[in-house]
Amino acid sequence: MPHANPKLTAFPVFMRVEGEAVAIVGGGVEALAKARLLDQSSAVLRIIADVADAELLSFIAATGAIRIDAPYDAAHLEGAVLVFAASGDERLDRRVADDARRLGIPVNAVDRPELCDFFTPALVNRAPVAIAIGTEGAGPVLAQMLRSRIDRMLSPSLGPLAALAASFRGAAEKLLPKGNARRQFWSSFFQGAPARAVEAGELSQAHDAAADLLLSKAPASGHIALVGAGPGAEDLLTLRAHRLLMEADVIVYDALVPEAIVAMGRRDAERLPVGKRKGCHTKSQAEINALLVELGRQGKRVVRLKSGDPLVFGRAGEEMAALRDAGIAYDVVPGVTAAFAAAADFELPLTLRGVSSSMVFTTGHDLKGNSLPDWAKLAISGATVAVYMGRSVAAEVAGRLIEAGLSPDTAVAVVENASLQNRRRFHGTLADLPSLEARADLAGPVMTIIGDAVAGANFERSEPLAAHSHESAANAADAEVEP
Ligand code: SAH
Repeated sequence: MPHANPKLTAFPVFMRVEGEAVAIVGGGVEALAKARLLDQSSAVLRIIADVADAELLSFIAATGAIRIDAPYDAAHLEGAVLVFAASGDERLDRRVADDARRLGIPVNAVDRPELCDFFTPALVNRAPVAIAIGTEGAGPVLAQMLRSRIDRMLSPSLGPLAALAASFRGAAEKLLPKGNARRQFWSSFFQGAPARAVEAGELSQAHDAAADLLLSKAPASGHIALVGAGPGAEDLLTLRAHRLLMEADVIVYDALVPEAIVAMGRRDAERLPVGKRKGCHTKSQAEINALLVELGRQGKRVVRLKSGDPLVFGRAGEEMAALRDAGIAYDVVPGVTAAFAAAADFELPLTLRGVSSSMVFTTGHDLKGNSLPDWAKLAISGATVAVYMGRSVAAEVAGRLIEAGLSPDTAVAVVENASLQNRRRFHGTLADLPSLEARADLAGPVMTIIGDAVAGANFERSEPLAAHSHESAANAADAEVEP
């Protein structure tokens, strides 16, 4: 049902305060809160307080605000552009409000809306960009909630980017005809190479990129972000990953990335599944590499979304090499790898003082040869071993490690669908591990963690690995491919 849009009773405006006096009457927490808010601007704070809390005093000392150390008098308001009645005393606040009005200065009285000419917003500050949130009667909790939500959406580099934009305004207006050309420039400025350079903290590079763009020296070049989607839970996505997803033209994603995460991307982004999942149309790695290069050449902003961390068993090495060879810009955004999510689900210390001080990330697929890989030796000397894609080689892994001298009693933890609501946890020993291969009931991705540190996990919510009936695992290997 469409909502009728009621009228705002207060209209938001941005008021010039640079170098202007703003008067705050009061010496307690209310005055301090207003002073902190106003201190985000370049106004000159004039705090009228004959008695002031220690915290307000240290604020004044730290910021160089002016304090008038005398009982309130209407003359203290003179010359101010805004007045805050924040004494916490209703009669005094009323007097301040009356005086301000008589002097023709807009006034805000803390917690007394009936005395206010204006309200202060919840503020997201990326100076020179400001986002002011007003909720009228709905209260400060809602305003703060919205504030933090918006704050998370916006890159911390928005401020410097906007400042850079301001410094290019004049040149853009002089060199580019009004209309399409100018719009194009700004859109590439805010979404292309200049924005990325600011994001990376390379301000002079950003300046050069903007200048190239202005002089049409830069081809419309695309960019690929290799982004870790985390183990599956939506809220284990990083804020940076989320922001890039919301800016992407194209999202290229693997089968292990849940639809819910892909859906967090820009609504009109093109979504290309390339994942290796049994029975679905999939692309070879070479085809994926070529696709990324092609999209980059088309000038697209691409998010290449991979489960967990993109640099852990994600074949990112090949994709980065292809992009480098083709001269396409890319960067990498880390994600929570499956081993960390599985450990968290099990409250399992991956390193444990006096027990395990190193970690191995492996697939176990290299155990088939004759010589024992180095990681097996590390396991024997106490490392905690996280086995990716390890279900189909569970027996091999267990057998070779035991053969090499690891005790069959070594603790093992297995998590299917780590971080997701339908996760399942299993515990056992190395001797039980081979039974994993035969389990037809595990259709999701499985992480196996082996080592003495596993004994420090919480086994209250896990099932024994050994206690199950042997079934065929013919259909159970869906998630056993490296994306
Ligand atoms: N880049 C990914 C790993 C991809 S390899 C990462 O950093 O996590 C695919 C393997 O990762 C799966 O076979 C499984 O062993 C593991 N895996 C991925 N997501 C998982 C999850 N939610 N729970 C358990 N294991 C997972």
